[in-house]
Amino acid sequence: MNISLSHRLKKLPPYLFSELGYLKEEIQKQGKDVIDLGVGDPDLPTPEPIVKQLCVQARKKENQFYSSPRGLFELRQAISEWYRKRFNIFLDPETEVLPLIGSKEGIAHLPLAFLNPQDLTLVPDPAYPPYRTGTILAGGIPYSLPLLRENRFLPALNKIRKEIAQRAKILFLNYPNNPTSAFAPADFLKEVVEFAKRYEIIVCYDNAYSEIYFDNLRPGSFLEIKGAKDVGVEFHSLSKTYNMSGWRIGWVCGNREVIEALAKVKSNIDSGLFLAIQRAGIVALSLENKKEREVYKRRRDVMLEGLRSLGFEVEEAKATFYLWVHLPKNFTSSLEFSQKLLKEQGVMVTPGVGFGEYGEGYFRVALTVSESRLKEAIERIRLF
Ligand SMILES: *Cc1c(COP(=O)(O)O)cnc(C)c1O
Repeated sequence: MNISLSHRLKKLPPYLFSELGYLKEEIQKQGKDVIDLGVGDPDLPTPEPIVKQLCVQARKKENQFYSSPRGLFELRQAISEWYRKRFNIFLDPETEVLPLIGSKEGIAHLPLAFLNPQDLTLVPDPAYPPYRTGTILAGGIPYSLPLLRENRFLPALNKIRKEIAQRAKILFLNYPNNPTSAFAPADFLKEVVEFAKRYEIIVCYDNAYSEIYFDNLRPGSFLEIKGAKDVGVEFHSLSKTYNMSGWRIGWVCGNREVIEALAKVKSNIDSGLFLAIQRAGIVALSLENKKEREVYKRRRDVMLEGLRSLGFEVEEAKATFYLWVHLPKNFTSSLEFSQKLLKEQGVMVTPGVGFGEYGEGYFRVALTVSESRLKEAIERIRLF
């Protein structure tokens, strides 16, 4: 039988990281040690009270059935309470909060609710891939907004042509930013709200790293900006804050019409999170992640200093657990650099081009291994 893929699947960009993944496996098979600074997956354990709650709740029969696609009301309340404490923002748990099976799920499904064929979404470049792929899977066309160093890795909204802005339905933004670790100042976010109002574009603000910050500079919420709730929603995740990436739990909050539409899509695709996980999520939201922040800060300092001492130019990292590093002068391809570093020294980093064409010229280092492994990585890079 001839099985042919849909046009939308064929249109997805090639997954650059898989090639590097195979190379890593190959090298490990030869018995060589690889320090993986590639994947952005927290290495620390999920805090014990969360795990304990899951174990207790998993045993209860009432948690073993299908759950509402709108999420457990107590979890929505806990999210609303967390928002009030953290950002001093009021969210109606009935209509303005929707739990997700990880924020990636919500981000990737959202375009299905709003795009017609050939509609545009505005997608930063470099960026977390689901903004682009979710758009393509919904039949839309991602339009790249370059994140340039000279513009502090913020998109230049005033450079977007009027015809483009008029065709766009969704604007994706993510600060603190993966992969560049940039921050979004409030004056930029105000500009975003004005731009979105003028062209009637839904803002999808991905705040997955709001709790991974250093130096007492706390990231804000997009929803703090006046008028933001009229134009957009904000995505959050427990994955990075509480080392729960495998659990699959996050949420979206803000504009109720956007949330209603996404809930409608989701109710036709999934059937809600495991209730025991939702109850464990409530416990998570009652905890601080101060210890994690301190660990990442120490690692950041070690790696930043180490790389700079080797002559690398590294962007300032006030938040996220990534460093965005300029390629050394003798390289022009980030993929080639990453492959060579992996082959010769067993250190894996992510090539910037994997996040989009404007990521070329950089590589990303994830601070998700211990301090001693980071020090060893520095020593290996020194020999490279
Ligand atoms: C890790 C990450 C997420 C979180 O994904 P989950 O699906 O909630 O695990 C979202 N956005 C960005 C930019 C990320 O790096």
